[in-house]
Amino acid sequence: MDISKIYNELNKKIIAKDVIDLTRALIRIPSHEYVDGREKEVGLFVYDYLKANDIETELIPIIGKRANVYGYIRGNGQGKNLLLNGHLDTVPPFEMNFDPYEGIIENGYILGRGAGDMKGPIAAMLYAMKIINDSGIKLKGDVMFTGVIGEERRSEGTEYLVRSGIKADGAIVGEPSSYEYAIGHRGLESLELVIRGKSAHGGMPHLGINAIEKAAVLIYAIKEQLIPKLNERYSYKMGQSTLNLAVINGGKQTCIVPDEVRIKLDRRYISGESVDSVIAEFNEIINNIKEKDPEFDAEVIRLTDYLEHPPLDTDENAVIVQSVKEAVNYITGKEAGLTNKRGWTDAGLISKMAGIPTIIYGPGNIAFSHTKHEKILIDDLITGVKTYLYSILKFCEIEFDHFSI
Ligand SMILES: [Zn+2]
Repeated sequence: MDISKIYNELNKKIIAKDVIDLTRALIRIPSHEYVDGREKEVGLFVYDYLKANDIETELIPIIGKRANVYGYIRGNGQGKNLLLNGHLDTVPPFEMNFDPYEGIIENGYILGRGAGDMKGPIAAMLYAMKIINDSGIKLKGDVMFTGVIGEERRSEGTEYLVRSGIKADGAIVGEPSSYEYAIGHRGLESLELVIRGKSAHGGMPHLGINAIEKAAVLIYAIKEQLIPKLNERYSYKMGQSTLNLAVINGGKQTCIVPDEVRIKLDRRYISGESVDSVIAEFNEIINNIKEKDPEFDAEVIRLTDYLEHPPLDTDENAVIVQSVKEAVNYITGKEAGLTNKRGWTDAGLISKMAGIPTIIYGPGNIAFSHTKHEKILIDDLITGVKTYLYSILKFCEIEFDHFSI
């Protein structure tokens, strides 16, 4: 379906100032982990915005005062349903170079915490929905917006969404993507290695089992045996399989033989690997050491008490991927490049747990996310609205009988 004519008509209805004002309003509502109720206020704002624009909306309480907010434009039931997903939370301001919550405009940018990650992209999604809703166009498929809580910590909002049985034929996660798209990223697993020894007086170390010495053997084995294997695992969509030994604790005093060492690590894995295979690889190394050293005692513990954070691995030929790529091409005149350099996002849960083909695409430069100078270029923001608008029309299609502009 060639939707460019209709898109061109709707494009004329975009009022840049309205998009800017909406983004600034969202930035002005802090929604990080140290705010009482966290995303509550920003969720209410989105709810009110959708309601004021005559778009069906609901708040879904998740934890205490914290709620997801959803918005719906219903199609005629004969098309593909689209999910637009964005997280309502941000990281804390820490020490930013400017007032994080004023929404300052400078050199064509809007400045503030969440400007790019991801209140700007959320504003672009909401505004694209408003344009479509105002136009009176009847889509064939539904558009569902899900503003979710907690992505910067443990993704409680999207976890709830996938556990509640969300269904759609395609999804866009609007993380800022610098005009590149992602259809893959690595899964994320945090693990702890616990190495146990036996304490004794430091003057008589032969009476104990030194957990630090045992930990050294384990660390060396990981470095020599496991890391070279990971270096050979690469996916063009996801990048390199990696392991980072991140935190180590052990021992009490110099006069005591240490009886325990704990090592926390970050393991980023690609398709073909899984949480089970990741754990099994550590157990294999531990068992090999045990065979040679009966005193060696270690175990692997998962540090995650939430739903696993699986890789994102979407088929390049999925309709949603083709729709967004066509949108970018039409609007910018350039092919969107593929990136495999993303951290973990909610797209992993949506694609793996809910089985929805998912693409990451959003306005804003990812390099500014979480920084002291977070900002979004206003031109990018407007291009974001256009891209979502085109993608919705393309993916959901239009019922021409009811089409009137
Ligand atoms: Zn984000």
